[in-house]
Amino acid sequence: MEPARGGCRVALAGEYPAPSVTLTFYNTLTRRPEPFTPAEPGKVRMYHCGPTVYRRPHVGNFRAFLFADLLRRVLERRGFEVQQVMNVTDVGHFTQEDEDRGEDRMEMESRLTGKDPWQISREITELFESDMARLRAKKPMVRPRATDHIPEMLQMVDTLLAKGVAYRAGAGGQNIYFSVNAFDRYGELSGNRVEALEAGARIEVNPEKKHPADFALWKSDPKHIMKWKSQFGEHGFPGWHIECSAMARKYLGDTLDIHTGGEDLVFPHHECEVAQSEAATGRTFVRTWMHVQFLKVDGGKMSKSLGNVYSIDDVVARGFEPRHLRFLLLRAHYRAPLNFTWDAMTDAKGAIDRLASFLWDVKSCVIKGAAPGVDEAIAKARAGFDAGLDDDLNTAAATAAIFELVTDVRAKAGAPMKLSRAQAEAISQLLDEFDAVFDILTPEPLSDVERTEVESLVAERQSARARADYARADEIRKILTEKRVIVEDSKDGVRWRRM
Ligand code: AMP
Ligand code: ZN
Repeated sequence: MEPARGGCRVALAGEYPAPSVTLTFYNTLTRRPEPFTPAEPGKVRMYHCGPTVYRRPHVGNFRAFLFADLLRRVLERRGFEVQQVMNVTDVGHFTQEDEDRGEDRMEMESRLTGKDPWQISREITELFESDMARLRAKKPMVRPRATDHIPEMLQMVDTLLAKGVAYRAGAGGQNIYFSVNAFDRYGELSGNRVEALEAGARIEVNPEKKHPADFALWKSDPKHIMKWKSQFGEHGFPGWHIECSAMARKYLGDTLDIHTGGEDLVFPHHECEVAQSEAATGRTFVRTWMHVQFLKVDGGKMSKSLGNVYSIDDVVARGFEPRHLRFLLLRAHYRAPLNFTWDAMTDAKGAIDRLASFLWDVKSCVIKGAAPGVDEAIAKARAGFDAGLDDDLNTAAATAAIFELVTDVRAKAGAPMKLSRAQAEAISQLLDEFDAVFDILTPEPLSDVERTEVESLVAERQSARARADYARADEIRKILTEKRVIVEDSKDGVRWRRM
């Protein structure tokens, strides 16, 4: 059946044939929005830089990780088969300062906490996976760990040496660097050209490097706890960038359709990935690069000293559900500024509640003749929702279209709401599609404490009704509705269930 645009027959997710829809994505590489077409029709290969598992991911990290989930859902909604990989970095993540100190983040955390880096990695990976599940991120096809892919990395380092774009340095030639001067396109992604990097280099440049922007592919250090024996020596470990190049290639092939990460990764991480991968394979590494703007917290950077590096547990401890955070992070366009505050969390929660009670009212509306103007409002909302998501995942526009529908229908269909069956179904379908992308409308299962609370409210409502205090009974029904609890009165008594 042909999905109709607007009106009562609304297309279901997955009914869209991919070629008829044009998705536009902003490509960091070309610095402009481009129509998206994967290399192989109908199939998308995408890779996301995942967490460095030295500390529990914070709300900022989840902006980047949930963007990956959003992208997948939007692609799937448009009928693409998506092969999605998000790695876990459990060794070798140096920042520039770390590199000078010769310590990666895992080892730094190990020094600070006294824990074994392998144990840190296991614990944080588990937390990351459960946090992602709580945030309703779909599981990627693979979540490869860097430490499980050392042979693939070493093989790529060998290839780069054989091609003369990498060199050995240090005692016994145990440190291997990529030579940025040997790769013409170095700097194309970030706009940092090699000459400018040289001019801007700090004085204390690592003397082993031929050029200050050269970066480590493999390093040697007997003091490093996570280390491997290789053709380059006894105590080596990989550089950070080579990990993603090797893992992406293993699971997705030489050319990826999409690669994502936070904006801080454009340089040096992604610039270096391009250089290594393209130098090694001779093929385009990534066709579309997408980067998420950094989340701010209270208007600034997160920091331990400010105590604002929030995890999901901090969010839940304040009385929110993970889906409230999910919505806060997803409803702003991924390239727009976004500020995390507790007020913004309250606002996100309020918006979800408004939408859920609207859906409830639609589902329990009085079926009458078609409410005038509602068909048009549905058509407008659908068009706005589709256009928003297809336009570089503009979730702000897509969400606004849905909330406009809420206002329009409430204004036109009265209270209690009166709609035709077709109108009610069309609205429900559109909200189902909204939720197939945003996944925020289903509440968390009730905890034992909440269950007891609901049961006592239901009992209180019963006794209010028994003494003919209908005002109080109604009030309680309202409270229960806010908790997404439906009370059903039948001749067998009262039952309640989750909306
Ligand atoms: P890391 O664990 O530091 O390797 O970071 C994992 C991912 O989170 C990367 O894609 C980062 O760019 C991203 N990220 C880190 N901080 C933020 C933030 N405040 N907002 C958005 N993304 C972030
Ligand atoms: Zn990466």
